[in-house]
This record gives sequence, structure tokens and C-alpha cells, in this order.
Amino acid sequence: MANQYAVIGLGRFGLSIANKLYESGQEVLGVDVNEERVEESHPFATHSVIADSTDAEALKSIGIRNFDTVIVAIGNDIQASILTVLLLKELGVKQVIAKAINKLHGQVLKKVGADWVVFPERDMGIRVAHQLLSPNVLNFIEISKNYSVEEVKIPDRMMEKTLRELDLRARFNLSVIAIRHDDDINISPSPDEKIHYGDVLVVIGENRDLEKFANLH
Ligand code: ATP
Repeated sequence: MANQYAVIGLGRFGLSIANKLYESGQEVLGVDVNEERVEESHPFATHSVIADSTDAEALKSIGIRNFDTVIVAIGNDIQASILTVLLLKELGVKQVIAKAINKLHGQVLKKVGADWVVFPERDMGIRVAHQLLSPNVLNFIEISKNYSVEEVKIPDRMMEKTLRELDLRARFNLSVIAIRHDDDINISPSPDEKIHYGDVLVVIGENRDLEKFANLH
């Protein structure tokens, strides 16, 4: 069954969340005070309504407590963002995700009950810098402060060798969890799997080991 999501604040951030969820078959209610934003969001959500999320009665009348997850994508109006999160938690919404524009904003959102605070600009900045520092890393997920999973383009001299021959575990302390070739993914490849031109390795390990490996070229 599809989950029910509400996205409050239909700026670029909110709209892109709504769009992705809606495209994936989820039920998405878009909410904004601005009529134009609501109109523009129609192709990207199941329904969209005009409402001020700092008004408890307005939130109740759209039945906000029936949603599994509510995303508060209001950024610049910090007061509205904080008050909205507070009201949503008071009304009993189980999962509230909120966008913060700076550290202090994030701390306050946590204090008033946000279950997950996201910092889109900060996180995207980190991703861009990471990409500049390690151009061979196509994608990464931080799984803790020191460990990540990365998709790494490998040097030509490593092509046509098997994973056993490359022996990344002994040489770099890294585990290969998948080999990707465009959209084909071979998960848990065998040690005798050969790496071909254009393959990308999905590896897990400590960040400093990943960095050494990604900068081998
Ligand atoms: P983005 O960076 O995502 O493009 P933005 O620059 O348009 O956002 P924000 O201040 O983050 O500006 O606002 C996002 C949306 O939240 C706007 O469309 C705004 O109308 C809406 N919004 C602001 N306050 C409220 C509120 N109290 N209730 C509902 N929507 C609100």
C-alpha cells in the first residue's frame, strides 16, 4: 500500500521531494500559503491545497494527523518552520522531517520534536567538494563518521583482472560489494569475477582507505 506523505512548503526543495515521491507511486499532499506555488505543484502531487501551516485549525482541517510522514520544506521563514514542526508533533504526526537553513535552526527544530532534520545546502556543498577532491568517486553514502560506501571508477591498469588478483581487501582494507556496468549491477560478485572496461566498483571501507584507493590513478 502507498504511504501517505504531506509536503509543506512547495519551493524547489519541497517540490522536488513531492515530485519524487509522487513519481514512485506514493500519495502526496502538497501544502503552501502561496496560491501560485500550489497551482504550479499540481503535476507533482496527488493533491495540493492552500493553507498556512502555522495555523493549527488549518492543519486539523486538512487532516494532517492522518499522514504517515510530513516534510516541512519551509526554509527562510524560520519562525514559520519551527512553529509548523511544533504543531505537527502536538497534533500527533508520527514522522516529521524538516529542512534547516543553518545549525541553530536545526537545533531548534530537533528541540521542538523534528524526527529528522536535513540541511540541503550544507549537504550538497559537501557532495560537490567531495566530487572535486575525488573525481573518480561517482557516488557515495556516509554510513558513519568514518565509514562510507562509494562507487569508484578504477584505473585502466586494473581492468581485465579478477577481484582475487586485485585483492583490495589486503591492499586497501576495502570490500567490494558490487560491480556496476551502466544499469547492470552484479551484487556480491565472486572473487573470480573479472573487471571490464567501464565497470564501476561499489566498495565499502574506512574513509581514509577509500580516499587512497580513489586517488590511485
Ligand atoms: P526553496 O529553497 O525550497 O526553493 P524558497 O526559496 O521558495 O524555497 P522558503 O522560504 O524555503 O523559500 O519557502 C518554501 C515555501 O514554503 C514557499 O513556497 C512558501 O510560500 C512556503 N511557506 C512559507 N511559510 C509557510 C507557511 N506558514 N505555511 C505554508 N507554506 C509556507
